Amino acid sequence: MKSMVKSARMLIGGELVESESGEFVSSIDPATEEVIGKFPAGTARDVEKAVEAAEGSWEAWNGIGVAGRAEALRRFGELIMERADELLEVEVRDTGNTITPMRGDVKTGVGGINYYAGLGYELKGETVPSTPNNLHLTLREPYGTVGRIIPFNHPILFATGHTAGALMAGNSVVVKPPETASLSALLLAEIAQQALPPGVFNIVTGLGPQVGAALAVHPQVKRIAFIGSARTGMAIQRMAAEVAVKNITLELGGKNPMIVFPDVNVSDIVTAAIQGMNFTWQGQSCGSTSRLLLHESIYNEVVSQLAERIDAMRVGNPMDEASEMGAINSQGQYEKVLRYIETAKAEGAKLLAGGERPKGPEFKRGFWLRPTLFGDVKPGMCIAQEEIFGPVLSVMKWSDFDEALRIANDVEYGLTASIWTNNIDDALAMARRVRAGFVWVNSVGPHYRGLNYGGYKNSGVGRDEGIQEMLSYTEQKSISIALRN
Ligand code: NAD
Repeated sequence: MKSMVKSARMLIGGELVESESGEFVSSIDPATEEVIGKFPAGTARDVEKAVEAAEGSWEAWNGIGVAGRAEALRRFGELIMERADELLEVEVRDTGNTITPMRGDVKTGVGGINYYAGLGYELKGETVPSTPNNLHLTLREPYGTVGRIIPFNHPILFATGHTAGALMAGNSVVVKPPETASLSALLLAEIAQQALPPGVFNIVTGLGPQVGAALAVHPQVKRIAFIGSARTGMAIQRMAAEVAVKNITLELGGKNPMIVFPDVNVSDIVTAAIQGMNFTWQGQSCGSTSRLLLHESIYNEVVSQLAERIDAMRVGNPMDEASEMGAINSQGQYEKVLRYIETAKAEGAKLLAGGERPKGPEFKRGFWLRPTLFGDVKPGMCIAQEEIFGPVLSVMKWSDFDEALRIANDVEYGLTASIWTNNIDDALAMARRVRAGFVWVNSVGPHYRGLNYGGYKNSGVGRDEGIQEMLSYTEQKSISIALRN
């Protein structure tokens, strides 16, 4: 099989390089299990070199000023768009996510770059009127080197739009792509080499416990920005704390509720429940509303229509525009989802749709599953508590406001919540009391540029996607000047 990406090289100090190890990891197309490319198996030594390059470059990068950095970032965005089709194809084949929504990922990533490029002049400090005989002021300064660790569901989006804030703030970055979807990062390495000064944007591919961990414990990388599972996030906090004091932001998992009151239009709810699950990327989204909490009076009607709609969904080749769901990203993730399905059955949840491999010769190989719906789920069950990160929707029933709230909040996570009602009192009371960092009322799914995104509880620390993300990549310095006259 011909590799989809010509150069299997990382970007360190402006050079496209292989790993010191001389070894590679294969990339598998999850829809066919074919090898579609390879990427360098980076090591701690590669991370060391990348950090050295970043450390050697950030002062000059910061020194070109806001306008200079904005110009370079916009150029980076333009070059990405020139190769958008190539990036898209690689990303779809490597992740298994369907092509139509993935087309948005490249654009949204570049949109994020342009957004932070435009926000540069907001990297400002304050004057503080504490005493009349002094001028007290604050400055924002970059950390220096930022480590950005990325999960497999939106690799190109996170490597672009979610590094731009750090770059705009005057830092250099070392990006660690996900090992089950690293190919788009190799293309990005070629693009960044053209657009940005050497050392400012580095990419080190490889396995998490080697490359990610080496970045997390590197004493010169004080600022780590992690997107991934709560388990890895906690491991990073632990490892990092052994070597240094660090500023670590964590964008982690979710087990998000969609809470539906009785006064709704059932067909709107069925459509929204499907949309909220992000089946187009096999439910593999931190924000997926994987717990549908229905008022008892509408439970039967919603569930029966939902089962029918989910059953009719078109699972198929992710490159086909008509596919509504692709393949699960990796064998490990696939097996994990299957284990949850078995556990759910054993715990007494009622399988209402899916739960098995789709039929047909095209599904003989690959990590395929039909979109899955479980009814009669009880709040204490595994599938009601744990993040599956797959196409499995659990439906629960409630009878009064307090019960709905209790079920919604009774999980370790608190990333998103979606509330459906025409009653403003119920909507606002629930929005205020649900423990989640992002709440939709009468909608589900979209992110809005400028509106903070991040989690309560074990869903994370910090807020991304708004100005706060860019500012989080700065240290604040206070200066007090004694006025002599
Ligand atoms: P993961 O935690 O397994 O891996 C994420 C990244 O961490 C990968 O690049 C991996 O190589 C690296 N890694 C693994 N072990 C490491 C270690 N010991 N030290 C340092 N780095 C290590 O997560 P995943 O399976 O790739 O992604 C799915 C998770 O990401 C889900 O929990 C999902 O909810 C979460 N996620 C969160 C957001 C958000 O914005 N909150 C967005 C997307 C995904």
